[in-house]
Amino acid sequence: MTWSENPRHQGLRRRLVDALKIKGIRDERVLAAIGKVPRHAFMESTFLNFAYKDQAFPIGAGQTISQPYTVAFQTELLMVEPQCKVLEVGTGSGYQAAVLCEMGAKVHTIERQKELFVKASQLLPELGYHPAFHFGDGFRGLPTYGPFDRIIVTAGATSVPEELKTQLVIGGRMVIPVGPDRHQEMVVVTRTGETEFETGKHGGFVFVPLLRGVVN
Ligand code: SAH
Repeated sequence: MTWSENPRHQGLRRRLVDALKIKGIRDERVLAAIGKVPRHAFMESTFLNFAYKDQAFPIGAGQTISQPYTVAFQTELLMVEPQCKVLEVGTGSGYQAAVLCEMGAKVHTIERQKELFVKASQLLPELGYHPAFHFGDGFRGLPTYGPFDRIIVTAGATSVPEELKTQLVIGGRMVIPVGPDRHQEMVVVTRTGETEFETGKHGGFVFVPLLRGVVN
């Protein structure tokens, strides 16, 4: 992967951050992270010129890099603090993982498609981001690495997987889009006790589906 950064990219990122503010993103730490992560490094060459548009784009293997607004919205809801232990389900391009690393989180990210797992695990260290990469089915979470302070799922689930809920620390939060194909509601699950959870809903989004099993 060849990658370079020039002042034009910084200007485009500043404009993207302004656009996200207008759309309602308030968390300064989220905006600062999006202002720093070079999204163009995550894009296929065909879409390079659109890297700082607020849109989702194909990244290969039938998947997409999420729209920056969606990344910002989910990250804001996640309320990450520096040193938070975060599990991301659905590495994809690795962009969301990079944003979380930029915010100082300790990130574990899991992807079920080998091709995307390999690409992201090569690219992020080149950009100075060092999450732990895992290849596998994120439905089950990562029991041996948990529990997690935060869990973010970046593909649409038909319901909240129980195994993910139980990998949250008490007081931990999970942000997960839930609903049938192409009609997900952004759901925040907070673990309030050993067996108690609270759920809040935060509007409609469109995600690629969370699928079972792996693709080698
Ligand atoms: N966070 C990504 C968005 C990728 S789209 C980014 O910033 O680019 C969602 C990703 O979730 C896809 O790469 C898809 O392959 C992956 N995915 C779907 N179901 C999964 C599962 N059960 N476990 C792990 N990854 C999964």
